[in-house]
Amino acid sequence: MTTQPTPTTPGRFGRFGGRYVAATLLNALEELEAAFNGAMADPAFHEEYHAMLRDYAGRPSPLTFAPRLSERVGARIYLKREDLNHTGAHKINNTIGQGLLARRMGKQRLIGETGAGQHGVATATIAARLGLPCKVFMGVEDVRRQKLNVYRMRLLGTEVVPVEGLQGTLKDACDAAMRYWMGEYEDSLYVFGSVAGPHPYPTMVRNFQRVIGDEAREQILAAEGRLPDRLIACVGGGSNAMGLFYPFMADTSIRLIGVEAAGYGIDTGLHSASICAGSYGVLDGMASLILQDDDGQILPVHSVAAGLDYPGVGPEHAFMHEAGRATYANVTDEQALAAFRTLAELEGIIPALESAHAVAQVIAMADELSEDEVVIVNMSGRGDKDCEEVERLTHA
Ligand SMILES: *Cc1c(COP(=O)(O)O)cnc(C)c1O
Repeated sequence: MTTQPTPTTPGRFGRFGGRYVAATLLNALEELEAAFNGAMADPAFHEEYHAMLRDYAGRPSPLTFAPRLSERVGARIYLKREDLNHTGAHKINNTIGQGLLARRMGKQRLIGETGAGQHGVATATIAARLGLPCKVFMGVEDVRRQKLNVYRMRLLGTEVVPVEGLQGTLKDACDAAMRYWMGEYEDSLYVFGSVAGPHPYPTMVRNFQRVIGDEAREQILAAEGRLPDRLIACVGGGSNAMGLFYPFMADTSIRLIGVEAAGYGIDTGLHSASICAGSYGVLDGMASLILQDDDGQILPVHSVAAGLDYPGVGPEHAFMHEAGRATYANVTDEQALAAFRTLAELEGIIPALESAHAVAQVIAMADELSEDEVVIVNMSGRGDKDCEEVERLTHA
């Protein structure tokens, strides 16, 4: 028997998850849930989704043994190469799934939100591919900071809508996209970027990302003839981690390790470690662990990795944390920047700063690992987007 956590009702992960939205959005979410369940039960949808992952996104992504990092750490380390996907990260797995679902539902347009711009670009990409007009909401501050991704989205034919707000960042973009969708859902699908938000998004996005773990399981069995001992992945909203972990969930001897961004350090208050340092609350339509003050006001967050900079986390991660099925560590900006460099030097792979958090964690675990332990570290994305910023930071 396993101690695999099972949600009590659809969309609930213990006391987390659910659907905390205005009544007008319930219709849209119920329609989406029914369409998603229908698609999951339809072999033709799976075939179309997997064909597009293969022919358009370039899957399966390799599982690469990392000989020099393994030697440095003292374990057998493999990297799951989501950095090699079209558009450079795992995000495309999910936007392909939701894009095809939108078409199946007869929706004419896509809506998206984005922080650093990675999910916005992946949404704009699938919109172009399917010939659907697309609007992506983005905080004014992020529009200013992420000029290249704004340009990429516009080049792909997407309208980028700058959003004023409290901080002019991801939280404001999510609010604006949700509000806009409320008036447009008959024609449009809101393509949400992580395993967060109201039901069915956490379940749906996990299902569109589990291809990472399904492939990794087959690949590690072929390479090692056995299952791994540990899986390590960074956690912002939690989609790349959930995608890797989920197909291994019932194998309770495997340690699942999520890595949150400790920013300048947990005790500085400037981080994005919602599980390690957050508390129970409601954010973006879900109950989860979130970063809030005593009055329930959302706190400002920080990470050198823009994709981890989110004051909440997917409800299933919060549940796995409380159930003890997964453990959540945290890694500072400084550790992530060092790991960014280390992986480039040792393996010829420049990781996204988000993924560098997972690399930093396996390095930090060197003392407790042994030579014959097998570890899979998720390379959620490639680091080209971060080179300019890392150069600026390390010259300061
Ligand atoms: C967006 C992003 C993340 C964080 O999102 P999750 O939903 O936590 O996976 C991590 N890595 C990269 C490269 C990203 O673009």
